[in-house]
Amino acid sequence: MATTTVKAYGATASTEDLKPLDIERRSVGTDDVKIDITYCGVCHSDIHTARNDWKGSTYPVVPGGHEIIGRVVEVGNGVSNYKVGDLVGVGCLVDSCQTCSSCEQDLEQFCEKGATWTYNSPDKHIEGAQTYGGYSTSVVVDEKFVLSIPENLDEAGTAPLLCAGITTWSPLSHWKVKKGDKVGVIGLGGLGHMGVKFAHALGAHVVMITTSPEKGKDAKRLGAHEVLVSKDAEDMKKHQGSFDFILNTIPVGHEMDPYLGLLKIDSTMVLVGAVEPLKPFHGGSVIGGRKRIAGSLIGGIKETQEMLDFCGEHNITSDIEIIDMQDINKAYERVTSNDVKYRFVIDMKSLK
Ligand code: NAP
Ligand code: ZN
Repeated sequence: MATTTVKAYGATASTEDLKPLDIERRSVGTDDVKIDITYCGVCHSDIHTARNDWKGSTYPVVPGGHEIIGRVVEVGNGVSNYKVGDLVGVGCLVDSCQTCSSCEQDLEQFCEKGATWTYNSPDKHIEGAQTYGGYSTSVVVDEKFVLSIPENLDEAGTAPLLCAGITTWSPLSHWKVKKGDKVGVIGLGGLGHMGVKFAHALGAHVVMITTSPEKGKDAKRLGAHEVLVSKDAEDMKKHQGSFDFILNTIPVGHEMDPYLGLLKIDSTMVLVGAVEPLKPFHGGSVIGGRKRIAGSLIGGIKETQEMLDFCGEHNITSDIEIIDMQDINKAYERVTSNDVKYRFVIDMKSLK
């Protein structure tokens, strides 16, 4: 398969900083769209993968698969939905089998044969290679995994919708959060700030549950009606047993019992952040009140397009800080030390 060399940034080992790399992209096939990347969001998952926190990273890792925005510069003969010049996005997925029962239900993220992730997955097109993410100047993707971006939205602010957006939208939608529900969002980071915006737009009574009291003002500006500081025992007691739904974006293992205590009878807490062992929790925390703990992984392509269209109608984008590609290692430090408002987005001009 013919390839083209493009500029990228990646990690060659879990302990190394990210640095400039050259990577190969396949030439445009019949069903492919070639995208000139303009912006790419920085998800905490990029850091987990670059640093091999979840094990299973194959180096070099070129992260940034999750939140790619760009313009179409070339399309294959079989492409019907996109043309040169279109504003498009790519999220966490670039391929799946298309025939298993998950794929048939538009849940490609749970493809039974294994979805191909935008980075750190075996590349089906270039033998022996891994997929490489959006910290690069261009990418070639099957049109089925390309999303259409509403032109009225701010281009850079749209990038994080492709991961932070869909990851918070999908559970709110699956668990049918509706007008008047009391919804808690735990963790005001990249995911959490989108969770607050969506829950607000759906008409819920939104409570930001945070460890950082200084973020309270921002939380309200983003759409929270109340702020609950989880380190404040009195405050936690006041909200006991009162939530219809809680979205938990904490990125590391943590105590579950205090948060489970906030749920009402028959209500659900959805975990999206901690892909690692949680501290043991007391069975009584869910037995009393018939409560549920659930999980959620990004969202399928159809649902991602629905979320983007909703954002287009309601003019919802992410609150971002734009950085140059060369600042990525500093940005990683700031994300892990909880100093980001509320998503870094790389201006890919800096790499070109
Ligand atoms: P982030 O920007 O770092 O935000 C996480 C927030 O959680 C922080 O801002 C902080 O908010 C809170 N937090 C951090 N450490 C905490 C602790 N020890 N205890 C309690 N709260 C803590 O991260 P993100 O990009 O939103 O990603 C969140 C997690 O979701 C990551 O692990 C990421 O890998 C994962 N993720 C999952 C999916 C999926 O499909 N399931 C998709 C994308 C990302 P406060 O200051 O407000 O407390
Ligand atoms: Zn499948």
